[in-house]
Amino acid sequence: MSPSIGLPPPDPETCLVTSRVSRFKGGTLIDDEVHDLETHERRLCDPDGYRPCRCPRCGHGVLHVHCYPERHPRGELGMPAVVRIVQYVCAAAGCGATWRILPMFLARHLWRAWKTVERVVMPASMPRSAGAPTVPARTERRWRGRFAASARILVVLLAASGGMALEALASHVGLDASRAELTEAHADAARVMPAARLAALAELVHRLERGVRLM
Ligand SMILES: [Zn+2]
Repeated sequence: MSPSIGLPPPDPETCLVTSRVSRFKGGTLIDDEVHDLETHERRLCDPDGYRPCRCPRCGHGVLHVHCYPERHPRGELGMPAVVRIVQYVCAAAGCGATWRILPMFLARHLWRAWKTVERVVMPASMPRSAGAPTVPARTERRWRGRFAASARILVVLLAASGGMALEALASHVGLDASRAELTEAHADAARVMPAARLAALAELVHRLERGVRLM
């Protein structure tokens, strides 16, 4: 147990709680149906594979493939050094927003697959991955610090989401929950299996408020 028991968890870093909805034209969308590399590669082969049905910025219904940016997830067995993703551009005159689509198993900004991060911060119930490259101690400390930080903003998002199950989860964990506590409670409530717990909650909060991060 944490020695700070009884005290509210510390504030998270600013980068975890900054919305990108109004400051940026376009951005990242996370596809919650793509849980593994095989599905991702299949979707990527088809120009329609990840195409949003409309532009989240202006609502226009035509988006074209713009480019294929690369991601370099480190330290997960079975994950190649380079994973391509797809970026679409809105065809509406005067919009031109670009949208990168991230499969659910890749962590935004962390250069990792979510599974790798979950193995560090929730090791007890995670399947062992013998031979997986180790994560630097400094990185592990940063992840643990973020996981122990306050989930207040995430809880507020859930409470305001309009979904009954999410509102119930928010009132169950309360405003003083840490991100670790919220992740566990969400996984229990939504029956998320180990290795998918961080990915599931990260996708949910990004969907509720683009840019807000679990980790
Ligand atoms: Zn648009």
